[in-house]
Parts: sequence; structure tokens; C-alpha cells
Amino acid sequence: MLLTKKQQILIVTLTSLIMLSAVVITVVLLTTKSDSSSSKEQTSATFYVVPLGTEGGLDESDLSSYLLTSVNAGQPNVVYIALDGGTIRHGVDVAIQQKLLQSATDTETFIRDQIKAYLVSHGHLDHLGGFLLNSPNDKAGKSIVAMNETINIIQQHYFNGQAWADFGAQGLKTYDYQILDPTNNISQPIANTDFNVRLFRLCHTCPYLSSAFLVSRRNVSTASILYLGDTGPDDIEKIPLPNNQTSTPRYLEQMWKEVAPLVVNGELKAIFIEVSYVNDRPDNLLFGHLTPKWLLKELRVLKSSRSMKNVKIVVTHIKPEKGARETIMKQLKEGGGDDFTFVLPEQGEAIWI
Ligand SMILES: [Zn+2]
Ligand SMILES: [Zn+2]
Repeated sequence: MLLTKKQQILIVTLTSLIMLSAVVITVVLLTTKSDSSSSKEQTSATFYVVPLGTEGGLDESDLSSYLLTSVNAGQPNVVYIALDGGTIRHGVDVAIQQKLLQSATDTETFIRDQIKAYLVSHGHLDHLGGFLLNSPNDKAGKSIVAMNETINIIQQHYFNGQAWADFGAQGLKTYDYQILDPTNNISQPIANTDFNVRLFRLCHTCPYLSSAFLVSRRNVSTASILYLGDTGPDDIEKIPLPNNQTSTPRYLEQMWKEVAPLVVNGELKAIFIEVSYVNDRPDNLLFGHLTPKWLLKELRVLKSSRSMKNVKIVVTHIKPEKGARETIMKQLKEGGGDDFTFVLPEQGEAIWI
């Protein structure tokens, strides 16, 4: 069949239009799909997390700190708590740029008005440096929530009038101290928030202590997250005793026993836990930290026969060594198989839980 030149042009134009439409439809479908899956995650979420800093050292603009708020009908609350405070200001700057803090007008006002409490896991600078540096401009009436040992470090070594002015309860009174007793198994309310908190002791190069916070929604009894500060593995952490003896406190195992019922009833939504080094790090150089194999060993103590697929394992505190993030995630996925859901947090990327 012979076609006239006009007919040929018409066919080419029609074919091009059909192909173009197919591309447009595919793009629209793909976009709609990712939008609907993220909004589904959002509407079913009970917590919203904005990582202000995620690394385990060196880069002062990206050190351990996570903003946490509750979510109702897909909308994050305007009131936050900070889980550790290594990096604050730069993390909030990035979060506002990335439109993760919709209720924020500017960084200064957000820090003053919308962060209501600082939960500090232990006294190391990479967990509270950003918080201390911002304390002169902070608004009065906030709580520093920690165990007694951490509060003592803050009072004696930072808020002592020499390292820094005393912004604590005995000085300029910007902050109140809410001391949590690790032996108390009743969750305590955090003032000006809808959260309750309970603290567990951890070993971070025995006998030095760190801590974990079990944060629950006060009016939603089925939603909790567990945030751990730095910790070594139970098998490595030993307290030296006289006569060359050692004792093993096994704080992680004790905590796993306490939170296991929350995994069984679906209440525990996420565990924030550190992995500082890759697997080939020798045990004598862990300095109170975990590797992928040690984390998996600890998680298997908690898992036992119960499924943990619905508990997000947020991997924190990776030391800034070249390729460490990729290697650690690969080693966790290879060693953990399908048993666990690992999440690698990034500054400027929100996590719906
Ligand atoms: Zn530490
Ligand atoms: Zn640390």
C-alpha cells in the first residue's frame, strides 16, 4: 500500500503522540504509587523522627541527635523531644530546608519553642555538645532527662561555671533535671509533652555507664520506641573486681527481658541502636561499642521465637570511616537475613514509625 506524504506525516505524528502518552502515564503511575505508599506509611504512623545528626564522631555537624514527636491522623505534633543532643542547630537548619518541620518558622524559634526536653543517654560530648552550645539562648522551663550519673557529669564537668555557665537548676535555671531511676519500672511523664519515659542502664566500657530510653505515647498504650545510647556487648562488658575477678552485669539482656512483652503485643515500633564499627574490628578495640555481628547476637536474644519484622531497627552512631555505612548495612543484611528490618538514618530525611 502506498501512502501519500501527508498520510506518512500523520502516522508518524500519531505514533509519537501515543508513545509520549505512554511515557506520561507511566511517570504519573510511578509517582502516584510512591506518593500513596509514603502517605500510607504516614497515616499509619504513631511517631515521627527527624534525625539531626547520625554519625558516631568527628564531624560536629552530624552527631547523634534525633527529634521525636507523636503522629495523629498522619500529622506530626508540633512539640518535640530530643533524644541526645550531639548536633542541634545545623540539624534543624537542614530539616527546615528539607521541609521536614512544617510547623517551624525558623531555626532559632523552633529550638526555643518546640523542643521541650533533652533526653541525654550519657555524658560524652558527641551526645550533648550541640545542646550545650545552644543552651545560652534556650527558653527556660525545659527538662534534661537522664539517669543520676549523667546529670552528675553535666553538673560537675559542663555546667560548672568553668567549662560553661551553669544553665541548670542550681544556676541560671534554664533547665530542670528530671532524674530517672533505672530500678523504677513505671514510666514517668515528660513535662509539656505527650510522652512517658523509662530508663535502662547500659555498659559503655565498664564500669562507665550509658542508658536507654523507652519512650511511650501517654494516651496510646500500644506505641513505644526504644532509644539506646552507646553500648558494648554483654559478653565483652565486664566490671573489674578486686583479686583479678570480674563481674558481668549483662544490662542488655536484662533490658531485652523487660521489652520482650512489648514485641509480642506489637507495642514496640522501633529500636534505635548503635553499630560503631564494621565486623573486622577486634573485640579488644570496641571501647564500649557494637559491630554488626554483636548487634545481631544481641537482637537474637530479644527475638527468640517472636517475629521482629515489624520493629524498625534504626542503626545509629556509625564511626565516620570510609565505606563504613555501606559495609555495616551489608553485613547486617547478610547476617540478619529476613529476620530484621534495618533502617539507616540520614540527616535531613524523616522517619515515620
Ligand atoms: Zn559514648
Ligand atoms: Zn558516642
